[in-house]
Amino acid sequence: MSKTLRLILGDQLNYKHSWFRKIEENVAYVLMEIEPEARYVRHHIQKLVGFFGAMRAFTEHLRKQGHQVFYIQLDEPENQQDFAENLKIIIKAHSFQKLEYLLPDEYRLDQALSGLEEQLGLPVRVYDTEHFLTERMEVAQFFAKKKSYLLESFYRYMRKKHNILMDGKEPISGRWNFDAENRQKYDPKVAVPPLPQVEYSVVKLHKMIERKNLPYLGRLNPEKFIWPLTREDALKILHHFVENCLAYFGRFQDAMDNEEVFLFHSRLSFALNVKMIHPLEVCEQVISYWEEHPQKVDLAQVEGFVRQVLGWREFMRGVYWAYMPSYAEKNYFEHHRKLPKFFWTGNTKMNCLQKAIGQSLDHAYAHHIQRLMVTGNFALLAQVAPDEVDLWYLGIYIDAIEWVEITNTRGMSQFADGGIVGTKPYISSANYIDKMGNHCRSCSYDKKKKYGEMACPFNSLYWYFYETHREKLSKNPRVGMMYRTWDRMKADEKEKIIKQAQAYLEGIDEL
Ligand code: FAD
Ligand code: SF4
Repeated sequence: MSKTLRLILGDQLNYKHSWFRKIEENVAYVLMEIEPEARYVRHHIQKLVGFFGAMRAFTEHLRKQGHQVFYIQLDEPENQQDFAENLKIIIKAHSFQKLEYLLPDEYRLDQALSGLEEQLGLPVRVYDTEHFLTERMEVAQFFAKKKSYLLESFYRYMRKKHNILMDGKEPISGRWNFDAENRQKYDPKVAVPPLPQVEYSVVKLHKMIERKNLPYLGRLNPEKFIWPLTREDALKILHHFVENCLAYFGRFQDAMDNEEVFLFHSRLSFALNVKMIHPLEVCEQVISYWEEHPQKVDLAQVEGFVRQVLGWREFMRGVYWAYMPSYAEKNYFEHHRKLPKFFWTGNTKMNCLQKAIGQSLDHAYAHHIQRLMVTGNFALLAQVAPDEVDLWYLGIYIDAIEWVEITNTRGMSQFADGGIVGTKPYISSANYIDKMGNHCRSCSYDKKKKYGEMACPFNSLYWYFYETHREKLSKNPRVGMMYRTWDRMKADEKEKIIKQAQAYLEGIDEL
């Protein structure tokens, strides 16, 4: 075998990849910390630490196994801060004859690496990351002859294809979906379990990032980093979730709380997205726990979780590859406003936003409904440019990698794709936020008021959004009813709402 160098990107830390099954004398691996990757967006400090920390831990693991690994740290003087330039140096110094790399999940990197053969002047071969349960174009092919991309039909296909929660050709218990039982408000009588014992000191890494003057946002306690940096710790988090949170996962999946950040969510997205753990093993562990403990966990919780991993996660990846690069330019509503300043600080009187943004700055995390129905909802109602919204989401969350960030943000939350991912915009007034949590009770704004002193901004902006986009939305069968309600309101009531919304938009940074 010719002397081969294998490139591994920061989100390709698949401990179980077939590449690593045997130690090969002629094969070496290379991982690199590259400045443009740390700078192309202002990342959360925990995201920078998480990626570099996990890459370093993975390198250590491979070396312990006996593999030869080159690791280029961000602050090494020899680091050219460019994939191709670093590769050239290693290839020349060690006389490699061939380069191999794993299929990148980001369009940007896919494009960049596809030019390596020419840049390096040696044969290049690409391998699968062996992580996803679908091929890149499988979702596109699945929907090729269909009018729209519907998660539900894809999800059922995946359940059948992987024989997950199936009883022959039918879903186990005869139902595909348990949403009706799930999605309740949080009941504080059900105690949220303490976080599992996964904790790192990342003082050295933090200092290096500071020394290199990398731009970042958010906060970090370098003595107490709570995201998994190894597969072993990712599995600890998975076990903790299965044993302590799964029983309430679906029930409180959409709940929001002033104090509880993680509630019963798994916190597995980072480990999954950097590929330390496999989506199938996650689903299998969840299902086996339910099979072994039917008295503790019911099917509704399990199905709610499997739907996210087997359904949404694979679906979003498929949409990404079906529509990139044009997806990143979609702006269906032609929104062009700036993101309010408080998205970067959490300094707002709107309690729901203060909590969702504050928690995101503290932990590089917010759960799905906070991302969709608080920050995303507000950005859409405030008619913010999708580019601005994307940059914020891509930077702030530890799990944010473009394939899953952009489809969720631009697609699901901003409806900028005009309805590829969702059938209607996810917007709400204070009503929904109040229904799902306790934020409104301790808010300076009045959740019941649409206009006037301290009226909740979500209320007027909500109706103003519909009014502004009547042409694009009124024919949508899922929102037609809202127009009938709006049209039934008295003219002077409507005028007050519109004026209130316009005033809020004018002074948005002061809300
Ligand atoms: P749990 O609630 O425990 O769910 C279990 C797993 O299901 C997650 O770890 C994740 O892998 C998967 N999952 C759930 N929902 C989705 C979804 N809509 N799309 C893809 N996978 C899903 N997820 C990311 O991984 N990276 C992102 O950058 C990202 N950006 C988002 C932006 C917006 C505006 C919205 C609305 C959602 C976004 N999501 C993103 C999806 C979801 O919010 C996160 O996956 C989830 O909050 C991660 O927390 P968890 O691991 O505790 O998830
Ligand atoms: Fe948010 Fe309005 Fe409720 Fe305040 S009243 S928490 S701004 S929805």
